[in-house]
Amino acid sequence: MISVRDGQHRILAQIAGPVPSELLPATRLLGRVLADEMRAPFDVPPADNSAVDGYAVASADIPASGRRELTVMGDLPAGSVFDGAVSSGQAVRIMTGAPMPRGADTVYPQEVVERAGEHVRIGPLDKGVNVRLGGEDVKAGTIVIEAGTVLRPQEIGLATSLGLWQLGVHMRPRVALLSTGDEVADPGMPRRPGQIYDSNRFTLRGLVEQCGAEVIDVGIVPDVRDELRARLLEASYTAEVVVTSGGVSVGMYDLVKDVLGEIGGIDFWQVAMQPGRPLAVGTIGAAHFFGLPGNPVASMLAFMLFVRPALFKLAGRRQLFPEVWPARAAEPMRKKPGRREFKRGVLRLENGGWEVRTTGPQGSGILSSMVSGNCLIVLEEDRGDVAVGETVLVEPF
Ligand code: AMP
Ligand code: MG
Repeated sequence: MISVRDGQHRILAQIAGPVPSELLPATRLLGRVLADEMRAPFDVPPADNSAVDGYAVASADIPASGRRELTVMGDLPAGSVFDGAVSSGQAVRIMTGAPMPRGADTVYPQEVVERAGEHVRIGPLDKGVNVRLGGEDVKAGTIVIEAGTVLRPQEIGLATSLGLWQLGVHMRPRVALLSTGDEVADPGMPRRPGQIYDSNRFTLRGLVEQCGAEVIDVGIVPDVRDELRARLLEASYTAEVVVTSGGVSVGMYDLVKDVLGEIGGIDFWQVAMQPGRPLAVGTIGAAHFFGLPGNPVASMLAFMLFVRPALFKLAGRRQLFPEVWPARAAEPMRKKPGRREFKRGVLRLENGGWEVRTTGPQGSGILSSMVSGNCLIVLEEDRGDVAVGETVLVEPF
């Protein structure tokens, strides 16, 4: 029996590096992983500019008390540069975003200025107010986005503010997905007596897509050795990762590990965790293989713990594991020492703190617990039963 952490590290050690990268335009970058760090080619904003609509003046002209009259030399819309300089006794009408004229260092908002014809009257104001300094957002030459960052709208905006309209991002890893089992029927098709509808191929598809990877749907494969062998081989040619569910326990028709032993390298693990103990990990040719358990909660959990970090590493992401948070147990929880247990929980802000309770029955086939829950409760190996009020770790979905 191996620990969750050892399993995770053994899997990551098998993955040499990320998939190659491609150049994509700014309109197609959302959710993609930046391949190389991004440095700023110039300052943003490129020059000092006005933060308001108003009048640009030299601080030397600002009276310490009372008011002073200045002559308005011209209008400066955003996108224009003032030709001359502001000298003593002068002001320039300036719009938000317009570069500060030479000689000016402070802007009076137009609401606080009295204007009469070509003159404005100004009063005391601190030097430098209402001016955005060149480089205050981004300094030329600095790293603005690290390699391995998942691009959100704000990273894309920052890149385009630097004039970058295409970026190198990692390609999406391809994941071939298949369900095993004579009892598994495709939703939308009639179901024979004794059959259940496939849920794993759809929960796993969603999880794969949430990882930014692409799904190749191989369908449902019955518990027939030759057919499983053929479909797994075919899957391994088309994808970097092959994921199956079911057929990895020790039943008479659990063929996955036998077939893998024939066509690839197979490592079969009993992981010290609950739910989702048996797991088959290995390779078929160049593809990484994960044989997940059949029970719906167990297969989702095994994906989150073992496949997701692997896909993140393949996708070139910097952060491979989710963050966990402390919360107060709002109910007692049963826990066997010696294994890591994952319960589905409902996390709520209660009396100013985070509290968590379980979703109820925790059987590994109770998929509705994943629906009513909003987090995993992670109970570490050395821990025993949890009493009300103890601190537990949660991982929000
Ligand atoms: P197995 O490990 O193949 O014996 O499967 C364990 C349990 O998970 C059995 O009750 C299966 O019916 C169920 N199961 C297997 N595959 C799926 C699937 N694709 N969708 C929903 N349940 C499944
Ligand atoms: Mg089965």
